[in-house]
Amino acid sequence: MGFIVILSSLFAGAVFAQSATYSTLEVTKDVYVVTGPGYNAMFVVTSEGVIVADSNNPEFASKVLEEIKTVTKQPVRYVVYSHDHRDHIAGGQVFKDAGAVLLSHEEAKKAIVKHPHPDVAVPDFTWSGNKYALTLGDKTMELFYFGPNHGTGMTVYYLPKEKVMYFADIVTPNRLPFTIIADFDPDAWGKSLKEIETIPFQMAVFSHEGPIGGRAEVVVQREFWRI
Ligand SMILES: [Zn+2]
Repeated sequence: MGFIVILSSLFAGAVFAQSATYSTLEVTKDVYVVTGPGYNAMFVVTSEGVIVADSNNPEFASKVLEEIKTVTKQPVRYVVYSHDHRDHIAGGQVFKDAGAVLLSHEEAKKAIVKHPHPDVAVPDFTWSGNKYALTLGDKTMELFYFGPNHGTGMTVYYLPKEKVMYFADIVTPNRLPFTIIADFDPDAWGKSLKEIETIPFQMAVFSHEGPIGGRAEVVVQREFWRI
């Protein structure tokens, strides 16, 4: 009997440790970030449903769905892919199965279709050009494309009312670029950040590290490239 008690308490500890790797923080009213192993994902609760920024991977996507249910009964209506890199957009099918529409810049979709992967669901809807306003209920999320800087179709999201920006990969607090800067164009990267700084955001959510910061992290990232 004693053995069974010890075994079950060990098991309980393991389950707790596993779920503790994911947590949700409130960025500002109706804006949340889920942190998980190596990645973060933002979600925005509107009066008509939820918008999710990046699915990351199937496990992460399932956890985000669970976390959303702890703060709202609203369904996920849209998942916006930040760019074509699989480590940020795998798992979209989890949301699609829950009724969401998957969205990306048309350049990102072209790359996703060209390099298919079973874990990456192809976007249902694309936008083109430099800016698209995604309005759902009482919230608007502005999607910005500054041209090639990292990956393909890199989209930066902005909530103008809340003055919150979401960055995947092009701003990572307290991290120097890797020795091999895979799929980055440093000049274009710095120039994009300079353009981003003209947008009056006050808070920022990052796909890696952070997860919450502000303008200072963007300036530091740009100044690293001396642009
Ligand atoms: Zn990337």
